[in-house]
Amino acid sequence: MAKCFSCNAEIPDIEGEVHRYMDSSPGCWKLYGQILEKEYSHPPDYMENHRITVDAIAVQHYGTPSLQVIQSVNLHLASMYLIYKKSFDVKKAHSGLTVLAKYKSELSWLEPPRIVGEITVEDILKATNPQEYCKLVYKWGMSVWNAWKVHHEVIEVFVERHKNEIY
Ligand SMILES: [Zn+2]
Repeated sequence: MAKCFSCNAEIPDIEGEVHRYMDSSPGCWKLYGQILEKEYSHPPDYMENHRITVDAIAVQHYGTPSLQVIQSVNLHLASMYLIYKKSFDVKKAHSGLTVLAKYKSELSWLEPPRIVGEITVEDILKATNPQEYCKLVYKWGMSVWNAWKVHHEVIEVFVERHKNEIY
C-alpha cells in the first residue's frame, strides 16, 4: 500500500495513468476509476450524488497552478458552497455551476490547505449498499468543503455576486 501525495488516501502502490491536470498518485486515480464504474454501472442508485463525487475528487487533487486548475478548483468549491452552505440539491447545484462557469475569468488561485479532507476514495469504496454509499459521498464532499474553510469567503463572494442568475 501507499499514500496518495495529494489526498493522503491509502492506495495501491502502482504505476500508471493519472488525470491530465488533476494531480494524484496512480493508485488513487485507479480507486477513483472504481468509484466511477460503480456509479455509472448502477444508476440511479449510486449516481444520486455523482456531482459531489466529481467535486470532491477534483478539489482533493488540485494540482499545480494553471488557468484550468484555478477554474476547476474554484468551480468545484462553488458547487460545494451551493450544496453545503445553501442547501441546494445536487441537480440545482449542477445548474448553478453551469451559470457560474461563464464567469470563470474572475477566479484566482487558492492556496490548498495542508489537509484536503478527512474522507477519501478508499472510504467511499467501503460502502456496501447504495444508501450507505450516497450518504458517504455526501459526507466526503462536506469533509472536503470544510477542509478548504480558509477560502469559504472568496467562494461565497464569487457565487453571491451572480446569485440573481442562480437563486
Ligand atoms: Zn488521492
